[in-house]
Amino acid sequence: MTGRGLAVGTVGSALIACEKKPTANASAPTETASTPSGPVPKLPATSPPAEVPADPQKPIELEQIKAKTEQQEGSTPTPLPEDQRVGYAVVGLGHLTLNQILPAFSTSTKSKVVALVSGSPEKMQKVAAQYGIKKESCYSYADYDKLRDNKEVQAIYIVLPNGMHAEYTVRGAQAGKHILCEKPMANTAAECQAMIDACKKADRKLMIAYRIQYEPHHRKVRDMVQKEQFGKVKSIMANNGQNSDNPKHWRFNKALAGGGSLPDVGLYCLNTIRYVLGEEPTEVVGYVHSTPNDPRFTEVEEQVNWLMKFPSGVQASCATSYGHHDDKQYKILADTGWIKMDPAFPYKGLRLATSQAQGDENQEIQHQLSDKDQFATEIDHFSECIKENKTPFTPGEEGLQDQKIMEAIYQSAREGRPVKLAPVDKKDAFRGPEPKSEA
Ligand code: NAD
Repeated sequence: MTGRGLAVGTVGSALIACEKKPTANASAPTETASTPSGPVPKLPATSPPAEVPADPQKPIELEQIKAKTEQQEGSTPTPLPEDQRVGYAVVGLGHLTLNQILPAFSTSTKSKVVALVSGSPEKMQKVAAQYGIKKESCYSYADYDKLRDNKEVQAIYIVLPNGMHAEYTVRGAQAGKHILCEKPMANTAAECQAMIDACKKADRKLMIAYRIQYEPHHRKVRDMVQKEQFGKVKSIMANNGQNSDNPKHWRFNKALAGGGSLPDVGLYCLNTIRYVLGEEPTEVVGYVHSTPNDPRFTEVEEQVNWLMKFPSGVQASCATSYGHHDDKQYKILADTGWIKMDPAFPYKGLRLATSQAQGDENQEIQHQLSDKDQFATEIDHFSECIKENKTPFTPGEEGLQDQKIMEAIYQSAREGRPVKLAPVDKKDAFRGPEPKSEA
């Protein structure tokens, strides 16, 4: 049955109910019930017409309630029962874990959090109580390797400072668990390679948590670019910067962070441009600057501006900073139009606009897509890969490639010259199979 057919049926029965109500001899059950404060209407309880597929992984289709011209709600979720979900241990209970990742598990459909790892027993106890995690599934960093014996844990989500990603990935894989690791993958390309090797050796999957590559607005941009909806792309401008504070935080410590704004927020510009184009840069030029005597920038950089040259002729100009007011956007300029995302990189509220040249007029469109929880979507993709034995769309190799490019950008800035990168002919060379469309 189509959505339209369902809608007609619903409207019809609603009308009949309304027409019958005032007649004296209506045969419906009692029409009123008495309460101490007077009568309240008593209406027949019914189920709206719905299409209910037998396959548990196919969504229930409810009747249409909005005009076809309006934004629709999308499919109903198809959650797996608890005992069929992939169980995760989340390592590190900082800002990202407490504000985004743990809440995201409640909207995920294939994943559940079953263990925690933290250096703060007091914080962990409180979080475990909040999320219903067993006391015996709470581990200190010293006890991390004991995750090996916890059969409920199939995957580990590493949400630690960047400089700790390599060690905890290697140890996690050696404990027999699949690894979902936050971006940036690590501090150096050598660490990234060691993580890939350790996961291969242990026959465990490794995915880097590039939430943008699973997000509907960015997926639409990639589709428009790759179908050449506005002709050939010529130029891309991207910026991701914020005014960061607290010089004591690990983000300003070179050993823990690897670098400053570039690996933390600038990486979004780099990774998203590679993703939407599906190609790899062949040359980069970089400039690095830090405000002298600013206590935040004694070890890591404040600001990086860089250019990337792609084999198709696209040139990208990117900027990142820890020293200016929040700004997260990109614009793609093509033969007959442009695509703009502003903001592009926050967790929600993304805004996508396009402009198409049409003679005397430009047709500007504001695209309305529903926000999805970006963390639930990426976590569920990894769970699906584990359950169906597939390579993740953003495996370790994708993180390694970003790291190599960032190292070339720093090298260019140090040496004051463009740096060439190994040419890569294959499209989407470092990505796994496409995620399912609802992912
Ligand atoms: P955070 O400082 O809030 O949390 C880090 C956690 O690691 C804390 O619980 C801290 O106690 C623990 N930790 C363990 N050893 C530590 C040590 N030696 N020094 C400092 N902290 C230590 O950081 P965060 O913002 O949650 O970032 C964690 C990771 O997540 C980083 O890799 C970051 O790049 C990434 N991240 C990703 C996104 C995204 O959108 N995907 C957003 C923010 C952060």
